[in-house]
Amino acid sequence: MIERLDAFMARANAAYYATRDPFRDFTTSPEISQVFGELLGLWAAVCWRAMGMPTPVLLIEAGPGRGTLMEDALRATAQAAPDFRAASQLHLIETSPRLRAIQAARLPAAIWHDGIETVPDGPFLLLANEFLDALPIRQFVRRRDGWCERYVGDHGSVERPAAPGDIDAAWHNDPENSVRELCPAAGDVVQAIAERCRSHPGVALLIDYGPEHDAPGDSLQAIAEGKAVDPLTTTPGTADLTAHVGFSRLATTARAAGMLVHGPVPQGIFLARLGLFQRSNRLARSLPPAKAAAIMQAARRLGEPDRMGRLFKAMALSHPALAHCPGFED
Ligand code: SAH
Repeated sequence: MIERLDAFMARANAAYYATRDPFRDFTTSPEISQVFGELLGLWAAVCWRAMGMPTPVLLIEAGPGRGTLMEDALRATAQAAPDFRAASQLHLIETSPRLRAIQAARLPAAIWHDGIETVPDGPFLLLANEFLDALPIRQFVRRRDGWCERYVGDHGSVERPAAPGDIDAAWHNDPENSVRELCPAAGDVVQAIAERCRSHPGVALLIDYGPEHDAPGDSLQAIAEGKAVDPLTTTPGTADLTAHVGFSRLATTARAAGMLVHGPVPQGIFLARLGLFQRSNRLARSLPPAKAAAIMQAARRLGEPDRMGRLFKAMALSHPALAHCPGFED
């Protein structure tokens, strides 16, 4: 069988998330520190005030994993912004039945969706951490005779001549053997967010890993049992496949669809502006020494540039009336 890379990646990840506990293979910011979800919850509450406190408001999370981020966000907002907490209706976008069951145990009031399209209309706040990196990508490789597109056969990579319409004019000066990536599914998510903003105010916060500017490179990676494996020859469903998120392309799509784009800024800067170190410090003071040290260490892991602070970026897309977004001030 020969499949285009995006079809292969979609199939592999659907099988992976349906059958495995992804968090045995990798960890994510909400699993590293409770402060991550708490800060994002408070971020949402501040945006809600800037939107004029619409009630009810849809609090949407795409790809909620174990539900940790949302649980931390709800606890923090119940404390610090109970009016926002009371106004929020929880909607989770999750395709994996296995992860839905884990989420349901922690977030019983949520309503689940397979995609953003079925979330009801209304003013909204959307959070997505490490969601876009799991969406299927296409890859193009520049060969001597022209651009090829990557397919996957029984023994790994197969290349076929690319359709000229898929090749971006900005790639024309790329050297031979350069790889370019497109993630149409991420573009569709941005379009769907923009569509919702035509009738209601809303903001989406997208946090993921990837470069600030578009550049050639093969970023597809696969992790199985905590180790990097070959993404194209590993049995589909046994490894988590991810790719860098193309923030600049998504920003262009969002602007063309009429949204305001905030950032991207490095995660470390974004979280520090929201008070990562102050909140971690305050929390640490109420804990026994070993737990206090762990909380401060976790904060450094999320924030420091040589850890997750620089590779990860935060970008917000908002209704054009929302000129300011917390964490994105210059
Ligand atoms: N946000 C969580 C989990 C990240 S893992 C965290 O930070 O810990 C990616 C999540 O997205 C998982 O919940 C996975 O099941 C979900 N997911 C992956 N592809 C999806 C798709 N196409 N549609 C909906 N959910 C998807």
